[in-house]
Amino acid sequence: MSAPEEFDVIVVGGGPAGSTAATLIADQGHRVVLLEKERFPRYQIGESLLPATVHGVCRLLGADEEMRAAGFTTKRGGSFRWGTAPDPWNFLFALSPALSGPTSYAYQVDRMTFDDILLRNAARHGVDVREESSVLEAVTGGGRVTGVVYSDPSGARRELAAAHVVDASGSTGRLHAAAGGTRHYSDFFQNLAVFGYFAGGGRMPEPDAGNILCAAFDEGWLWYIPLRDDLTSVGAVLNRDQAPRIQADREGTLRASIQRCEIVRDLLGDTKRITQGTYGSVRVRRDYSYANTRFWAPGITLIGDAACFIDPVFSTGVHLATYSGLLAARSLNSVLAGDLSEERAFGEFEGRYRREYAVFYEFLAAFYDMRQREETYFWKARKVTNMQTDDMQAFATLVAGASSAETALVGADSLAHRFSSSSAELTGAVERTGAARTDSGERMTELFRAPVVADVMSEMNRIQQRGVTGPATTETPLLDGGLVPSADGRRWAEPDAAPA
Ligand code: FAD
Repeated sequence: MSAPEEFDVIVVGGGPAGSTAATLIADQGHRVVLLEKERFPRYQIGESLLPATVHGVCRLLGADEEMRAAGFTTKRGGSFRWGTAPDPWNFLFALSPALSGPTSYAYQVDRMTFDDILLRNAARHGVDVREESSVLEAVTGGGRVTGVVYSDPSGARRELAAAHVVDASGSTGRLHAAAGGTRHYSDFFQNLAVFGYFAGGGRMPEPDAGNILCAAFDEGWLWYIPLRDDLTSVGAVLNRDQAPRIQADREGTLRASIQRCEIVRDLLGDTKRITQGTYGSVRVRRDYSYANTRFWAPGITLIGDAACFIDPVFSTGVHLATYSGLLAARSLNSVLAGDLSEERAFGEFEGRYRREYAVFYEFLAAFYDMRQREETYFWKARKVTNMQTDDMQAFATLVAGASSAETALVGADSLAHRFSSSSAELTGAVERTGAARTDSGERMTELFRAPVVADVMSEMNRIQQRGVTGPATTETPLLDGGLVPSADGRRWAEPDAAPA
């Protein structure tokens, strides 16, 4: 092989995580190459987005106009048929007229289009995008990762060298091993998913028509995502003990799950499953709940599904992917500019990323706990008290990363004030349901009390805020002794060095 081509950063994988990191690093004038094994547009699951991605990260990337023009279904919130209550429970990102605003929605996206928008946008921002380029292995030397070997579209082996490699190769990539950690699979989330697409189907009444619907039934739950008038994504999330059944007949298992779940069965009616083309097969995903024990090592950083994923409920995957892409870009930009040591910059990356992951993990586990103990359902208490109904909606909005959608156009101080008031109100209201509170409810209340939840939600607010209004003026470290984002949000700064 001839001498390797050199770059500042090699990004492996062109999904939302890779495109986000590559764009934000190239924007700083660094030489970035992105290697993607497929030719886009390519299929991917993960179609329901959160406002923090749409209005925060995508604006930072300069891709928001194109997203708007793509005609994706507007997602104003979520609908849950979760437990014994006969009616679905809805939450909207803009629950209160006082909080309603221009960013109180997300999108349901077909990932072929969404990922393609972000990848082409990366190329326009100066990233050297190479498709049909599959990374085979990491190159190491002197105790760090120094490059990669990949096969180019003709099948020839090529080597690239760089100061840093970003592994954004998703759940199937193997490069993460070069960071020296191990992949720890969750003891709690041991589900698998079987999913397909239908040529239309009913919609919830407005304003919930674009919502994701999550509907529980005895063996698991179904998602129902309205992608277009003529396209609906339907998937069953089942315990892994259902694996033999799925293996024997995946289509039959999906159909049987739909039959067991009245609301989805009724919405679909006699709508046909699509049987041809990209959306024509019934797919299965398993072993998707894990976290790597290391998110970085000298010369390599893991982001998106390459680092961790929890569970499809509440649609956190693309949020975690784009958020970690942003965090990694800040760290790499700071190190490449000579502003910070790798330990300091990547310590901040890993600290914030793990914190975000941990909060969602904890929350989702509580959510599943309640599903398993239907008689003690938190939502049952909500159903009988208006106050709790409001608070659960607010709660779901916060955890969807959307509470700031409505306040994003106000100042940071006002934003923080609004956040802390609604958080306190929420905690108070949950406590007022004491008589009906259950073990699961206790756990959820504890979760609200945890300062870490408020911290993480504030961070999501800030990302979204910055995307909408430009640089924030003041921020405090999220982590003890930690860093703050620079004024343009693209690097880290020591707190006392941040602009006033
Ligand atoms: P990916 O989107 O997987 O992109 C990785 C890219 O790397 C791919 O394009 C791949 O081709 C490329 N690649 C792999 N190996 C190599 C290699 N060796 N060389 C070069 N390129 C390589 N998230 C949501 O936000 N909302 C949802 O509704 C949702 N639903 C889900 C349902 C299920 C059943 C599952 C399992 C996940 C769901 N997710 C959802 C999660 C979502 O799919 C992922 O979190 C998200 O796609 C992660 O983005 P990424 O960029 O990290 O990885």
